[in-house]
Amino acid sequence: MTIIDNATGTTVRTVNHFINGNETGQDTSDYTDRRAPGTDEVITRILRGTSSDVQHAIETARRAFDDGRWPNTTGFERARILNRLGDLIDRDAAILAKIDSEETGKPIRVAEGDIAGAADLCRYAASLAITMQGSSFTNNGPDYTGIIIREPVGVVGLIVPWNFPALILCQKLPFALAAGCTAVIKASEFTSSSALHIVKLCIEAGVPDGVVNFVAGGGSIGAAIAESPLIDLVSFTGSTPTGQKVMAAAAGNMKKASLELGGKAAAIVFDDADIEDALAGVMFGIVFNNGECCVSQPRLLVQDTIADDFVQELSRKFATLRVGQPLDRATDVGALIHAAHLNSVTGYIDGSADSGAEIAFGGKRLTGGEYGNGQFVQPTVIDRVDKTAPVFVEEIFGPVLTVTRFTDGNQAVELANAVEYGLSNSVWSKNIDRVLETAKRLQSGTVYANTVIDAPPTMPFGGYKASGIGREMGQAGFEEYTELKSVNIRTGKRAGKFLISGSAIDTLTAS
Ligand code: NDP
Repeated sequence: MTIIDNATGTTVRTVNHFINGNETGQDTSDYTDRRAPGTDEVITRILRGTSSDVQHAIETARRAFDDGRWPNTTGFERARILNRLGDLIDRDAAILAKIDSEETGKPIRVAEGDIAGAADLCRYAASLAITMQGSSFTNNGPDYTGIIIREPVGVVGLIVPWNFPALILCQKLPFALAAGCTAVIKASEFTSSSALHIVKLCIEAGVPDGVVNFVAGGGSIGAAIAESPLIDLVSFTGSTPTGQKVMAAAAGNMKKASLELGGKAAAIVFDDADIEDALAGVMFGIVFNNGECCVSQPRLLVQDTIADDFVQELSRKFATLRVGQPLDRATDVGALIHAAHLNSVTGYIDGSADSGAEIAFGGKRLTGGEYGNGQFVQPTVIDRVDKTAPVFVEEIFGPVLTVTRFTDGNQAVELANAVEYGLSNSVWSKNIDRVLETAKRLQSGTVYANTVIDAPPTMPFGGYKASGIGREMGQAGFEEYTELKSVNIRTGKRAGKFLISGSAIDTLTAS
């Protein structure tokens, strides 16, 4: 990555393409400026990729898969490289965390957690490279052996959003590499620098040239990846409407599509919860990463017997949160990704009164002083929210918590499931029967019980309903990057009969 100084002395990063082991694109001046959400200063220039750039990257990845330079390596070799990649991410953790904090507006301590998590994902994927396996069947007679071979799916397109640039890239790339796939990466043009840095670390770790390719630019790069007949799988994280476009484009060559989309989780707090833990969890669940997180818990559903006291204490806790510059280590809530998103978030807050809701805490944009022209908003609690209100059903993607009361478990589940999304929910109760019964009835790919946001690499992650298709992480996430091939083998002299389902039959009379 080129670092230059601009007139004000601020360092400005330049994001170019990285294709076939080379940084390319410096010979043009076609760049988009990225302003820091916290300061509104230009911090990054991102090359505007073209359709021929993305085509070049896709053809490169295709060649690198078809000539076997990566899929033919052993699992141990891939694991060694992925472990090195994890170590290199740790080595450059301070650089990567600063990049992601500056470009996304997330608090630096959150960015540090993301980078540590990204390194761990590489190490977990290394273990999967070693243990990648198929299976066999020998129970259809002595002359029959069925071998199920697990193979890499091929060339994968990885489309990454802006909210966790390094972490979400590493929920995809190491797993694809562990399986033996080659890749073309498109990061969000708001937050591309850490992805380019990690791609370069792949080369340093020993990934052969051409296996991992990065194309800088906006949404049209993602669209070209989703459409390309040379790509075998597209893995996308982002909004549901864009995910629908990706899925439609993927149909062109029937490529596999793994889609991790939006969420609108409910945090269900029963009156027998550990109240102190529930208060801390509900607050963390909505302010973590500025609320710009698909598994944020933006809808508090609280049992009416404790609701008034719970909301009062929650508002007191929200008042202790420090909103500040992303790079300030004392900051709890940083700046939102860009001005249009800030306007969308404040628009939801302002519109909430239309449906009879009340602001219990916050609700204002923060400007002037240390906030300058940055995109800051107070963490906000909106009380007495009806299940039909836009703030209840639509993804706001900011530090905005709605509160809705329920009388019993049936009503809590009905409210939780009354949205189109199904990514995650949380349940707070010390009664294990109640927790498990509720968890089983919630329509979401993840349920947190007396916790929130936890995401160990071993646990598969993905959505029900409009929250997506497929899983990331865990054994299931790894298997998305593979295909199964059934090899049916007969040994010895054939008896003439063929296995149709469970029966051996001879359908021809001719000899
Ligand atoms: P998008 O879904 O538009 O962007 C996600 C990624 O897809 C980005 O890399 C984007 O590139 C790329 N992209 C854009 N258009 C296409 C396309 N036609 N085909 C393929 N890829 C494309 O999210 P937004 O950034 O617009 O965010 C909007 C909302 O989405 C948020 O407010 C939030 O509600 C939700 N969201 C959810 C996320 C999650 O984790 N589930 C993550 C991010 C957003 P580029 O950014 O360069 O345009």
